[in-house]
Amino acid sequence: LAVRDQLTGLLNRRGFNELSDNAFAMARRSGTPLSLIMTDIDRFKFINDKFGHAAGDAALKHFARLVSKSRRGHDVVARVGGEEFAMAGLFASEAAARIWFQALVRDVACRRPDGRKVTVSLGWCIAEAEENMSAQLSRADHALYQAKHGGKNRAVRAVSGGPRMIAVA
Ligand code: GH3
Ligand code: MG
Ligand code: MG
Repeated sequence: LAVRDQLTGLLNRRGFNELSDNAFAMARRSGTPLSLIMTDIDRFKFINDKFGHAAGDAALKHFARLVSKSRRGHDVVARVGGEEFAMAGLFASEAAARIWFQALVRDVACRRPDGRKVTVSLGWCIAEAEENMSAQLSRADHALYQAKHGGKNRAVRAVSGGPRMIAVA
């Protein structure tokens, strides 16, 4: 229970740290690239303020269901902050990772009570040689920051030579 988030039933930050370390080690051993995604719901405070905390909670649960539905095999999905989610996935190829999050961005179907779409921003990266999990996390975080800074509702990949926008929903 200490590794689970009460509201969504997903792993919490502690659970994420424990399980993603394992996923990271497995990826290292098998030579599979480990993809790490950080997402944050856009203007979530507005949803709470305008429609109430219960509506905010419902949006969080909806988003959590959406991300856990797309979870496969060894993927680790967690709620690591108020409206912030992390996903560590083992992908056979970079293309597979790309398709995965593009679908996620497109399918953020949780709607506000006024019918407008809830959007998310997303930062992702693939582990580089010799990189540890915490270095990878901070790169994904930085890419997420770039996605927010660039106008939200988009995905940015951290790559050497600077972040690159890869999708706008
Ligand atoms: P941005 O677009 O830049 O991401 O802004 P934001 O409003 O999404 O982000 P900000 O960090 O300003 O606000 C996050 C809000 O999430 C503030 C906090 O009250 C709310 N929050 C955190 N945990 C919960 C929760 O469990 N339930 C609800 N309803 N709200 C929560
Ligand atoms: Mg946030
Ligand atoms: Mg937010």
